[in-house]
Amino acid sequence: MDKIILPIFIFLTGAIIGSFLEVFTYRYPRKINLTKGRSFCINCKTKIAWYDNIPLFSYLYLKGRCRNCKKAIPLRSPLIEASTASLFLLVFLSRARIFSNVSWLNEFPTLFSVLLLLLTTSVLIAVFVIDLEHQIILDELVWIGLVALLFTLFFSFRVSPFVLFLPGFLAGLFLLFLNIATKGYGMGLGDVKLALFLGSFLGFPTVVSFLFLSFVIGALAGIVLLATSQKDLKDKVAFGPFMVVSFFLCLFFGEGFNLIFFPFINF
Ligand SMILES: [Zn+2]
Repeated sequence: MDKIILPIFIFLTGAIIGSFLEVFTYRYPRKINLTKGRSFCINCKTKIAWYDNIPLFSYLYLKGRCRNCKKAIPLRSPLIEASTASLFLLVFLSRARIFSNVSWLNEFPTLFSVLLLLLTTSVLIAVFVIDLEHQIILDELVWIGLVALLFTLFFSFRVSPFVLFLPGFLAGLFLLFLNIATKGYGMGLGDVKLALFLGSFLGFPTVVSFLFLSFVIGALAGIVLLATSQKDLKDKVAFGPFMVVSFFLCLFFGEGFNLIFFPFINF
C-alpha cells in the first residue's frame, strides 16, 4: 500500500508547491505582494474561487478556460504545476540513483536527504522560470540553496565545508573568469552564484560534467533559437535555465556522464 500512497502524496505535494511557485515566480519579480488577495483571472480580473484554483485539476476540468470570461488560462500555470509535481515524483522514485551520483547525501537519514532534494528542486524551478522570463537570477533564491547546504554541515562531521564548497567555488570562479573575459556579455554574476551552489551540491567529479553539459545544452538551444529565428546573434539568452537542466541530468545520470565525457580518467 505504501508503495502507491507515498508516491501519490509526493506528487500531490509537488502540485501544491508548484501552484505556490507559479504565483511566486509571477508576483515576486513584479514586486506584487505575495500575500495580497487571491488569484484573479488576468483577462476579466474576476477572483478565482477556491474550487477553481485546485492545482492541476482545475485546469483540466475547466478545460483551460476561465469560468467567467471563457478566455484561455495562461499555459504557465499548469506547466509549472505539472513540472513541479513530476520532478518531485521523479526525484523521490530515483532517490537511490541520486544518492549514488551525489555521494555526500548518503551521510544523512534518507528523509533528510529527500527533503533537501525537494527543497533544492523547488528553488531551481523558481530560478528557471524567473531567469527565462526576466533574464535575472535572484540572489535570494540562490541564498536559500546555499544556506540549506551549509545547514547540512551541522548534521554530519564526515562532510567538511572545504570538500562540500570547493567544487562550487571552482565552478563559480570559472564562470567569473568568463564574465570578466566577455565583459559581462556571456555570463552574469547571477550565473556565477548559481554555479557556486549547484557545483557544491554535485561535488567532484560531476561538477565538471555539469559545466560541460550546461554549455552543450546552451549551444544546442542557441542553434535551435537561431534556426527558428526566435533570436539573433545580438540577443542575450539566459544561461541559468541551461544550468538547471544540466543539474537535474547530472543528478539522475551523473556517473554515466562522467564516464562518457572523461572515459580515460579513473574517478
Ligand atoms: Zn476571466
